[in-house]
Amino acid sequence: MSDIRYEFANSTYSKAFVLIDLCATHTMKEIIMFMSKKINENEELTSAEKEYLLERTQRDADGYCVLSQTGSKRQCEYCINWSYAINYCEHCVRKYLTDNFSNWTSGNDEINAIIQECQESMVIPSRIVEWIPFGNLKNIEYKTRGGYASIFKARWKDGRFDKWNYEKQKLERRGSMDVILKQLDNSRNLKSKWFQETKTHLKCVTKANLNVVKCYGLTRDPTTGDYMLVLGHMNWVRPKIKKKTPEWYTSLMKGCWDANPENRPTSEEIFREVSERLRSIYRNELEVDFMTISDKASISGSEYTNKSRTDLTSDHSSKLYSFQNLLEPKNVNEGN
Ligand SMILES: [Zn+2]
Repeated sequence: MSDIRYEFANSTYSKAFVLIDLCATHTMKEIIMFMSKKINENEELTSAEKEYLLERTQRDADGYCVLSQTGSKRQCEYCINWSYAINYCEHCVRKYLTDNFSNWTSGNDEINAIIQECQESMVIPSRIVEWIPFGNLKNIEYKTRGGYASIFKARWKDGRFDKWNYEKQKLERRGSMDVILKQLDNSRNLKSKWFQETKTHLKCVTKANLNVVKCYGLTRDPTTGDYMLVLGHMNWVRPKIKKKTPEWYTSLMKGCWDANPENRPTSEEIFREVSERLRSIYRNELEVDFMTISDKASISGSEYTNKSRTDLTSDHSSKLYSFQNLLEPKNVNEGN
């Protein structure tokens, strides 16, 4: 798939997702059916793109169910435990990772312990953090400096974990991909602020929080002794606000740049605002075609929930947001 088609396919996915009426109560099965219907109906997508998006729907749903411990469980034929994920078994993945603890080391017990702790709590394949040997990073190129850190671009030869292979009972990698290396100043000193930030970064990944920049793990340059965070794509500079940008979007962007982190909107606030706006835009765009997931006629499954909207608790809505948080906007340079 070309970069442009990849972006197009993923934006189609995001469009379909915002059409889900998040104020209503839906089962995961309904959400998957709605997304699948929207993907299959889209005549602009090729069959390969549809296949990719249908797989992504299932992957996001698995991630949501595993993190929130909701949905229906199935018994794993290998370990006999009950798993929330369909494309993998979270217990088998955890066992695979813990069995591998003796096969790698960062050379530092404290760092090993943090990574091990992360791997015990985060078993969604694409979100697992790990110790990445420096030799696996190629074409390292200095980009910029800022925020007490130096930023490099690099190619990660093997790439992050991607899928669980049931037959071989092992995790498979996605293959070569571009990554960002963030080397915080004073990173050789484990008592420094650097170490605290690294811990926060790594532990953040194990929570359902919106993680704007994905963290794949840690590495260390053996020549200089500096540790580096291995991250997904990030923007170097704040984008310029274009002339015709809507007022609400401009103020949201500026809010996110506020020098004081306390004043910045939370991920839930951003999601709420953007999805509301997008939903109204797409509704107009689609006109009569618009259909919400609550349209019972379109749902043939028997699991339609009878809960009324008044049953909605704040706890429930935050779970739905976490599902959105799992959506993985792909960067064109992730090497697909
Ligand atoms: Zn299992």
